[in-house]
Amino acid sequence: MATRVESCIFCKIIDDKAPSEKIYEDEYVTCIKDINPASTHHYLILPKRHIRNAKELKQEDAEIYDKMTSIVDRITEMKGLDAACTLTGFHWPPFNTVHHLHLHVISPTNEINMWQKFMFRPDSFWFVSTEYVRSYLQSRS
Ligand SMILES: [Zn+2]
Ligand SMILES: [Zn+2]
Repeated sequence: MATRVESCIFCKIIDDKAPSEKIYEDEYVTCIKDINPASTHHYLILPKRHIRNAKELKQEDAEIYDKMTSIVDRITEMKGLDAACTLTGFHWPPFNTVHHLHLHVISPTNEINMWQKFMFRPDSFWFVSTEYVRSYLQSRS
């Protein structure tokens, strides 16, 4: 089930071959703290399977995608985040950081600095919402 890419830092983190601060883990998903947080809370939800980016999601990835997005609520509850002040989303190619799919969870939004506000601007060409990716995924059947 698990595919790993040798050069991928997130694959290494998932396998505990690179340091990270994991806050949640199950059979399908790992959630870590972002090493360069944009706000007090900044987490990355990673599928354990190596998927390059949101644009490469296929119909058969719908299950893992739903598992990833469902973890947002668990993290929100676990960390006591205010959902109204929490930003979630994906990089959209060709704009990306690490080429292993990851869902950003950032809270509270009012603490995000100018540059990172730009980088994580909701529904821009480079950063898209979970709903956007969901409908993209559904359109790929
Ligand atoms: Zn990877
Ligand atoms: Zn990122």
